[in-house]
Amino acid sequence: MADNATETTLSTFLGQQTIKMLIGGEWVEAASGRTFDTINPSTGQVLAKVAEGDAADIDRAVAAARGAFEHGPWTRLTPSQRGRLLWKIADLIEQHAEELAKLETLDNGKPIKYSRAVDVPLTADHFRYFAGWATKLEGETIPVSIPNMFTYTLREPVGVVGQIIPWNFPLQMAAWKLAPALACGNTVILKPAEQTPLTALRLGELICEAGFPEGVVNIIPGFGETAGAALAAHPGVDKIAFTGSTEVGKRIVRASADNLKKLTLELGGKSPNIIFPDADLKFAVRGAMNAIFFNQGQVCTAGSRLFVHASMYDQVLGGLTDLARKMSLGLGIDPATDIGPLISQEQLERVMNYIDIGKREGASPTTGGERANGDLAQGYFVRPTVFDHVADEMTIAREEIFGPVVVVMPFEEVEEVAARANQSIYGLAAAVWTNDVKKVHKMVAALKAGVVWVNTYNQFDAAAPFGGYKQSGYGREMGHAALDTYTQTKTAWINLR
Ligand code: NDP
Repeated sequence: MADNATETTLSTFLGQQTIKMLIGGEWVEAASGRTFDTINPSTGQVLAKVAEGDAADIDRAVAAARGAFEHGPWTRLTPSQRGRLLWKIADLIEQHAEELAKLETLDNGKPIKYSRAVDVPLTADHFRYFAGWATKLEGETIPVSIPNMFTYTLREPVGVVGQIIPWNFPLQMAAWKLAPALACGNTVILKPAEQTPLTALRLGELICEAGFPEGVVNIIPGFGETAGAALAAHPGVDKIAFTGSTEVGKRIVRASADNLKKLTLELGGKSPNIIFPDADLKFAVRGAMNAIFFNQGQVCTAGSRLFVHASMYDQVLGGLTDLARKMSLGLGIDPATDIGPLISQEQLERVMNYIDIGKREGASPTTGGERANGDLAQGYFVRPTVFDHVADEMTIAREEIFGPVVVVMPFEEVEEVAARANQSIYGLAAAVWTNDVKKVHKMVAALKAGVVWVNTYNQFDAAAPFGGYKQSGYGREMGHAALDTYTQTKTAWINLR
């Protein structure tokens, strides 16, 4: 879209008196009539008023999704038609790329250069990848050992799916949830995070424009304790897919027990990032910086525990400290910004509290450890922080901080570092920097994590499965692994006698 058209569409969207919710193909107010403000975290200013969904709206959305699943035109579409609709969403995202990038940055605070280069293109790519799967959901013929039986399997959609997503990658998280669910023929109720509802709602408009039948995608902005909890407990929902904190993940498990919903959970992490002495040092230090500071450290896979071989500890600590100092803190919308604000006042307080605990427990920051002041004092900015003198037992080395804070710790031996890296309730991701092929394979096998990166960090692709070990969750997103979580297998026995 041309610049002017982008600005016009953006200001029309943000200028609505209330940004409404999507239920059964209609844009509607909350049943209660209530709204909530969404804030620009770079400035602390209100961006827009959004309809505040709660249990009554979830009821309406579940009825619409159930109707579309059981009786609507959706189930009569051919797989090819479903795939084309998903492909069309990707086309529309690309047509509106600049507008979506700006909206994401305004609502979330993330640097615009990343919204443009990462969030929006990967979102479009996700829909394209799963568009291809719609025509490839094959069953099997089974060579059973009972005479005259012809036995085969069908892969059928799970049904009505509730999807609850966080605020750190609002558009990408919506795509990770919607694309596989729709490719498999389910209908969906999506609840975006209260801090960042805007791009999911704009995506909803594009989904309507693409021609999805009514009720297939319903989007209910609102709060976790009301809308989210009602969705997780609703007897008319067959499955919940959740990304967020481990604490809320456990609440979802409990809430979903009554009707035994299928669950996929992508939860927290405290990922180890390990630099061996034979690594390419400059490359590894830069990798360590990106591993923790990308997206202000608000990444479930953030490389927040950096283990460095004792022989090069000072060099790595010094190099990382220098890089962190040089990062440019600024408004998300400024193209020169490397680090934007945290998402909210609450997250700012949470991260600053961890920094204080770290200092009290005896760790010392080599850089950062404080809020940004001056022009940035209105937003929720924390300077990139590198902690030295950290012990494994300290709170900041164990708990997920979800901010631009890394702890650096020395190690001596391969076995020792593998054991320490695994000493966590989490197991989402891990990384290793080395040029020794034997060490690579030993560490990949030893690390208890759903993803291991070698000489790289934070690589994601729609085709590569992603998810956690231990309390980082269960089920996998992306790749064909995601299809298993959005389909169920039916076995048919035909007596040929
Ligand atoms: P939450 O886990 O609370 O939020 C994730 C989503 O769950 C949001 O949509 C939220 O709604 C919703 N939710 C909250 N409570 C319930 C509930 N009882 N039932 C159903 N849904 C619910 O994360 P926070 O935003 O509170 O962040 C706190 C911490 O969680 C972070 O500091 C970080 O450590 C971790 N986190 C991890 C993420 C990850 O990707 N692994 C992502 C986000 C956070 P609402 O936004 O309205 O509260």
